[in-house]
Amino acid sequence: MSSPLAGAVALSHFWLAQVVRPGDRAVDATCGNGHDTQYLAELVGENGKVWAFDVQETAISNTKERLEAAGLAARVELILDGHQHLKRYVSEPVKAVVFNLGYLPGSDKRVITLAETTLNALQQAVELLLPGGIIAIAIYTGHAGGEEEAREVESWAAALPRCYNVWSQRLLNRSQTAPYLLLVEKGG
Ligand code: SAM
Repeated sequence: MSSPLAGAVALSHFWLAQVVRPGDRAVDATCGNGHDTQYLAELVGENGKVWAFDVQETAISNTKERLEAAGLAARVELILDGHQHLKRYVSEPVKAVVFNLGYLPGSDKRVITLAETTLNALQQAVELLLPGGIIAIAIYTGHAGGEEEAREVESWAAALPRCYNVWSQRLLNRSQTAPYLLLVEKGG
């Protein structure tokens, strides 16, 4: 297993494991190939639930395949829709929401997350978040539009009231465009 300090996604999994417990509810706002969805499904256990969103059919079917192979499909509701419609599908409080921004590796690089819809979804995510819950946002700036999205997400996060703990975690000895992690914890 790679070190949790090896990169933004590994680090997000480390933090998720600190807060998500069996029976919890969680959201993967950008399921892609399903790695984060699978990780959340393992953490919530058989009595928990994960909602997983993506706008691409390929992403939903890749995630479905991964979950079925792991025997975890029953814990996850897959939603072929944008995360900006989060509250249309999720009304229960959740312990964690994961965003992995950018484009789906190995797929159409023109389908990327966009600042406007990401911010819309993040606002809904903080409203659904339980005290002690976290939002983990892996941010990529190496593609067109990535820097603008990163700036807007950081401004949104920095303006959250002090009852939230907001962290930025980045590898300093990597390229400027290496993915980094923003964490938002709702005070307990
Ligand atoms: N977490 C994924 C994994 O484990 O493989 C990788 C996610 S990938 C970096 C970003 C995903 O966001 C893409 O699959 C893309 O289709 C999806 N996406 C783009 N806009 C979206 C939106 N408005 N709502 C939900 N997903 C979106």
